[in-house]
Amino acid sequence: MPRIALRRRRRTKIVATLGPASSTPEVLARLFHAGADVFRLNFSHGSHEDHAGRVAMIRELEAQTGRPIGILADVQGPKLRVGRFGGGRVHLQTGQAFRLDLNPTPGDARRVQLPHPEILQAASIGTTLLLDDGKLRLRVARKRDDHLETEIVVGGPLSDRKGVNVPDMVLPIPALTVKDREDLAFAIDHGVDFIGLSFVQRPEDVAEAKALTGGRAWIMTKLEKPQALENLDAIMALSDAVMVARGDLGVELPPEEVPLAQKRIVRAARLRGVPVVVATQMLESMISAPAPTRAEASDVATAVFDGADAVMLSAETAAGQFPFEAVNIMDRIVARVEQDPGWREIIEASRPAPEHSSADAIAAAARQVAHTIGAKAIVASTSSGSTALRVARERPECPVLGTTPDAATARRLAVAWGVHAVIAAVTHSMSETVNKAMRTAFHEGFADHGDEVVVIAGIPFGQAGTTNALRVAHVR
Ligand code: PEP
Repeated sequence: MPRIALRRRRRTKIVATLGPASSTPEVLARLFHAGADVFRLNFSHGSHEDHAGRVAMIRELEAQTGRPIGILADVQGPKLRVGRFGGGRVHLQTGQAFRLDLNPTPGDARRVQLPHPEILQAASIGTTLLLDDGKLRLRVARKRDDHLETEIVVGGPLSDRKGVNVPDMVLPIPALTVKDREDLAFAIDHGVDFIGLSFVQRPEDVAEAKALTGGRAWIMTKLEKPQALENLDAIMALSDAVMVARGDLGVELPPEEVPLAQKRIVRAARLRGVPVVVATQMLESMISAPAPTRAEASDVATAVFDGADAVMLSAETAAGQFPFEAVNIMDRIVARVEQDPGWREIIEASRPAPEHSSADAIAAAARQVAHTIGAKAIVASTSSGSTALRVARERPECPVLGTTPDAATARRLAVAWGVHAVIAAVTHSMSETVNKAMRTAFHEGFADHGDEVVVIAGIPFGQAGTTNALRVAHVR
């Protein structure tokens, strides 16, 4: 059998958002070969037909390359928006009064519709409302049954349907709107691997989405509300993966809080072994420029030093002029950081202790054994993906091969730090597992004849949650 050379030269994964700039099979293939491990479909934009077309193209690319590719369906969530204005646009004067009401008549510089009665009800005097990604700021001065009188604290231009953020309060609205439920059902039917859950505030929001997906996709909770950070532990405990969604997080929190929130979320996710994606504005200037700023390169590097599982591109690949260049430079920055001895030292120093389970004991031992003997890979046979994630949590020096009979598991592992997933038939004994692991490590280009690999598995075979065995094998 010919050896396959299609493997990444880095541990940290790349998520690339698809959109008008990246929706042909050719561009998709170029993005994948440049380094995209997971493709994100943003359900805030595009029709179901558009998204179905992209899913089909990704699965076709997967068949051509023989590599599992993750698909993240990011559902919009309850994004609040103002209504429309006569003429489409007004200018709000700082210091003036401005009314938010339920009247759908086009607005002007004195009033506009806020078509969310529950927000009008829940706001109180002093509540801050941020408009258009935080560019404008209103403070509630008076509250009436069907409208709010606000003071314009920071004015500026405002146009139709701009977003509204209310950072001060837990909004009395569920995390899934009617549209989200339809999008979620559609995405699940089309076999996506992750549901990105927007504007989560409470653990119950995650529980509700989990009940709807019933295990057919992983729930990736987007952390973008201060209220979610207050419930971080409980939310993390229910989430299959999380995203530091810095776009909305940066609207709701002051800018100086965002880096700290990012560090806190990545640390908490690594402690639990939950994959964590750092997202938004990573290479923002590349929407219209062929190279990033120094600050952007540094931002990507910071996420890699923090030990995030993945870094994400949004408009850079969805709507930018240089989608391929953005993935390419992101791949280069990540790979370069990971070659630095200082990066390895930081990763070692930030490794959490194993939890009290045989799976964690074996994962920790596998990392230690691989380090001591200079093994070329740790091969973890995994049905749900959990064993591979526990090894990834150890952030070992050598790659982790996650072998699984389940294509869905292999695709989900596309987001996990350092894991190269391979679809492989079920094995029935330790010697068969070891032989298969050696062959896989060889054929996937991770180990040569005479190299050592560490193989971990669970006995009895085919039973989930039994990881309890470790073998060292020489590739023959
Ligand atoms: C974000 O807010 O950072 C994010 C990823 O979500 P969206 O792109 O849906 O706003």
